[in-house]
Amino acid sequence: MNGDMKGIYGMKIETACLHAVRDHTTNTGAVALPIYQSATFAHPGVGKSTGYDYSRSQNPTREHCEKMVAALEGGCGGLGFSSGMAAIACLMDLFSPGDEIVATADLYGGTIRLFNHISAKNGLVIKYADTSDLTTLEGVLTEKTRAVFIETPTNPMMGLTDIAAVKRLLKSPDTLLIADNTFLTPILSRPIALGADIVVHSGTKYLAGHNDTLAGFLVAAAPEQEDKLRFLQKTSGAVLSPFDSFLVVRGIKTLALRMAHSCKSAAVIAAWLQTQPWVTRVYYPGMGAMLSFTVTSEETAKQLLEGVEIIQYAESLGGVESLLTYPFTQTHADVPVAERIARGIDERLLRLSVGIEDAQDLIADLACAADSDTACRKENLYVQL
Ligand SMILES: *Cc1c(COP(=O)(O)O)cnc(C)c1O
Repeated sequence: MNGDMKGIYGMKIETACLHAVRDHTTNTGAVALPIYQSATFAHPGVGKSTGYDYSRSQNPTREHCEKMVAALEGGCGGLGFSSGMAAIACLMDLFSPGDEIVATADLYGGTIRLFNHISAKNGLVIKYADTSDLTTLEGVLTEKTRAVFIETPTNPMMGLTDIAAVKRLLKSPDTLLIADNTFLTPILSRPIALGADIVVHSGTKYLAGHNDTLAGFLVAAAPEQEDKLRFLQKTSGAVLSPFDSFLVVRGIKTLALRMAHSCKSAAVIAAWLQTQPWVTRVYYPGMGAMLSFTVTSEETAKQLLEGVEIIQYAESLGGVESLLTYPFTQTHADVPVAERIARGIDERLLRLSVGIEDAQDLIADLACAADSDTACRKENLYVQL
């Protein structure tokens, strides 16, 4: 997708990240969003409201943040949650016992944990399928299917699902198409324009973008879903705080810039990894700033995790700092071992979230970590202060 952003006053998405929503709550001229750190709001009269009553229902800072995410995704409304998992948990409250949900097999591990341990207990029937294969997907859809939940590219194997093609398969308007757009962000993909009914985000990742806050979002394409989700959000209450809403809005200001830089670096690093003798396979979908790769042995994987100096061995992704993750013991630890191995999530797989550092510095860091020759050490990497 290019940077054209239809619907937001004809702005390009780079501009929309800053100006799609303007704060109308003050006349101070503040350029940065005010943080309304207030739990409750006084009523101007009996039966009257300023539009805000209690921050679980709505708060001006969160509302601004929600509108920004909804605008970028091209949805009618957005809802901000305290984490991505809180958003997905609330989303699952849309469904009733007996409802079937078909999900991409290679999902984020936390989503699998929620589905298998909580949604299943609540009577939802979760069926996993390779949603990149339309014939397979068609085979698992039934008249009880109430939703198809897709993640594209998948985490960590980077499998791609064609959102528009999945939409064409769904014959019943009662079957919601839900897309977790955490990896690509609205900079690279806008699932609603492709037919999705609800978009999910872990705002913790690229939207906030600085590895400093947790956040989650749901964006609805139509008011019908938005209203239902708002009711569930205010009822279960895992809302995004005013300060965290501010951090997400601030993060989004540079979303387009960060994505452009990180995507460019990811392509360079993926190409370099392909040429390395200690790398056996690179999973890079040709877009985005996430890549996974397998190395020759479990020892090499551990050597890299412990040897990187600029890149940090940590869970999470999508922030300015590059992070190296070990899906086998981190993000996907709760997926049964046999299933993990079957999906290629083994002891030799590493996942790299490419941040905004210089690509050659990141390559040098990986090269040093992979090289047991001590000539290549951290003294060479850092400017000594
Ligand atoms: C991290 C992540 C989540 C969960 O979000 P949290 O903010 O960590 O709760 C969901 N989906 C994907 C694709 C993720 O990467």
